Amino acid sequence: MESRWRSAEAAAFEGAVRECVYCSRLIGSDPSLVLHGGGNSSVKVPYRDVTGRDIDVLHVKGSGWDMGTIEAPGFSPLRLSRLHELLELDSLTDVDMMRELAAARLDPAAPNPSVESLLHAFVPHTAVQHSHADVIINVTNLGDGERVVREIYGDAVIVVPYVMPGFDLARLVRGVWPEQAHDDTVGMVLLQHGLFTFGDTSAEAYERHVELITLAEQWLDKHAPTATDEAPELPDVPLIDLVELRQALAAVAEKPLIMQRHRDHAVRRFVRRKDLHSVASRGPLTPDHVIRTKRIPMVGRDLASYASAYRAYVAEHRHRARTELIELDPAPRVVLDPELGMLTIGSTANDAQIAADVYHHTIPVVERAEDHLGGYRALSADAIFDVEYWALEQAKLARGGSSADLAGTVAMVTGAASGIGRACAADLLERGACVTGFDVSPAVEDAFRSRAWCGVIGDVTSPSARQGALRATVERFGGVDIVVVAAGVFGASRPIAELTTAKWRDVMSVNVDAVADLFSALHPLLRLSPVGGRVVVIGSKNVPAPGRGAASYSASKAALTQLCRVAALEWAEDGIRVNVVHPDAVFDTGLWTPALLEERAARYGLTVDEYKRRNLLAAEVTARDVARVVTALCSDTFRVTTGAQIPIDGGNDRVI
Ligand code: ZN
Repeated sequence: MESRWRSAEAAAFEGAVRECVYCSRLIGSDPSLVLHGGGNSSVKVPYRDVTGRDIDVLHVKGSGWDMGTIEAPGFSPLRLSRLHELLELDSLTDVDMMRELAAARLDPAAPNPSVESLLHAFVPHTAVQHSHADVIINVTNLGDGERVVREIYGDAVIVVPYVMPGFDLARLVRGVWPEQAHDDTVGMVLLQHGLFTFGDTSAEAYERHVELITLAEQWLDKHAPTATDEAPELPDVPLIDLVELRQALAAVAEKPLIMQRHRDHAVRRFVRRKDLHSVASRGPLTPDHVIRTKRIPMVGRDLASYASAYRAYVAEHRHRARTELIELDPAPRVVLDPELGMLTIGSTANDAQIAADVYHHTIPVVERAEDHLGGYRALSADAIFDVEYWALEQAKLARGGSSADLAGTVAMVTGAASGIGRACAADLLERGACVTGFDVSPAVEDAFRSRAWCGVIGDVTSPSARQGALRATVERFGGVDIVVVAAGVFGASRPIAELTTAKWRDVMSVNVDAVADLFSALHPLLRLSPVGGRVVVIGSKNVPAPGRGAASYSASKAALTQLCRVAALEWAEDGIRVNVVHPDAVFDTGLWTPALLEERAARYGLTVDEYKRRNLLAAEVTARDVARVVTALCSDTFRVTTGAQIPIDGGNDRVI
């Protein structure tokens, strides 16, 4: 491991707390050291309170802050003398400990302190940095992990057997410290958990981290070379297989879930192992991971057996829970299958991605231990269960959990790069759905910065592009629950006498033919939606009230509406709802430039503002107005509505 400490950068972080911020970021932004909120750090420096007194204080990382991006306010100042008093206790429940830590803050607005605060307080060094480094976990998840640690570090570190983080860990360290610590102690290895290093400054603690990690890396490189064998590509499995699996997962979990497929090199090699079932079923690298991945992945596709084994594991261990136990759903969060590769599962795209990140770090650790170091050995199911059902972890999950009404659902929006389509995509994302945007414009690719967004460039009239968009959606999110058809063209305005077949066909092919084909391809996926398929199509005011010069547009939207009415009839038995909205005069779209608006307004002798509000309510109709109706139709508010046509036009006497 190379030190990433740069004096020029560090100079910008003046003072002991800010130096700790800098070093924490160095550790936190390295995924081989900490993943997604893991690890913590602290520094002990006096704090001048409002009376001018200097108080001995531990500035410790607050929970909810990520080390990689932490700022000074992410550290909580705790009165050190109070922490030492708490360390004298023989026992303290987790809930009581968190209350006491919160009460020890000198600033009530500071974040809740890390659960490892008492351990940081106990360590008699100014600066402390803690990571869950892959290599430390690698050398301690072995039959003789403690011996290996001694072989690598001699007596330069304190070695602590695994206990759950919190009060018990702090007390255990307090017990072993006098037996093992000496003047040259630079760190502490927590078996199957991670590494602590100490120093007079955070920079020193960080450099010791680099040194100790490097020693473990060297030992591993010598004894357990990283696997690099090539593995063949996985087959393109039928989309329906993935969609059926997602439906079954949702049925077991009793909620819709996002399912991501991964088939990178490391995954392909791992799922082909003959001993896959054995190595994958021993447990996570460290109990922390259980919240993201469950104790073990599902190997293969026998979901019923996995779910019943999970329920049996909970029944067997539930007596260990220190607080009232709310049973988690029995669906796996990682699936390993020789043909599918790795599937990761979560309520959001973010959760599924975190499970993938954790497992991508798990694979090489397991491989090295199993292939070269006498076998991968994880902690007992007891220890894993204690963390999985730890009151504090359950509370953390509850706080981080999404309460968005469309969480776990997947939407596909055509014409999503601009105008109404883009507004619909934005609203669906905001309400928690994962969204594939499909548009001929390259702008669709980066239209939103979110893990829940998948932008696919393609022409809706191309069968292969449509198929590609469906595959991208299913591989990325697991299925399709919601479809919003917003792609459409107006075509040049001309009287029927001047229509050409080619121009007529251009409009028909985008507005009708492509949608009919898309519906045909989507139906098998929508009928497997765990929430019931929901389709909303952007029609037009021209359906109930056509306009001169817009024959092809009006006829195409009328045909599209009729297509939707038939779909509503045919698909009701599959629980799929199909509704149409008829917007009018939506001017905040790419079609309308300020110049065009002025020209049109002038033609009617109106100002632009009057022209925009030419409706009974005298209201301007925006793309966002349309999107809000569309997403409402996709939600349970309209649970029992199908085949409806809703005008979004500010009121039009020809429509009413
Ligand atoms: Zn830790």
